[in-house]
Amino acid sequence: MADLKTRRPDNAPGKFYVDSTCIDCQLCQDLAPNNFACNEEEEYHYVSRQPRTADELAQVVDALESCPSRCIGDDGDATPSGE
Ligand code: SF4
Repeated sequence: MADLKTRRPDNAPGKFYVDSTCIDCQLCQDLAPNNFACNEEEEYHYVSRQPRTADELAQVVDALESCPSRCIGDDGDATPSGE
């Protein structure tokens, strides 16, 4: 289960996010290329864009369920504004 307290700051605002335990395997970007990107300098992935279509949503949920380190969360709407 992803930890909202360690949400990466470069995640796009909204429901889905990646926390600090990403192991940079790239699976999420393979499954949902429109919504995940790599921070190549620090070697982790993050949500570059929240899903906008039903197809993108399905791909992001697939990535969340497939992530080997379980570091993709779907409770990011709870993030206080300004973080
Ligand atoms: S699938 Fe999970 S561990 Fe792999 S790059 Fe994406 S967020 Fe990181």
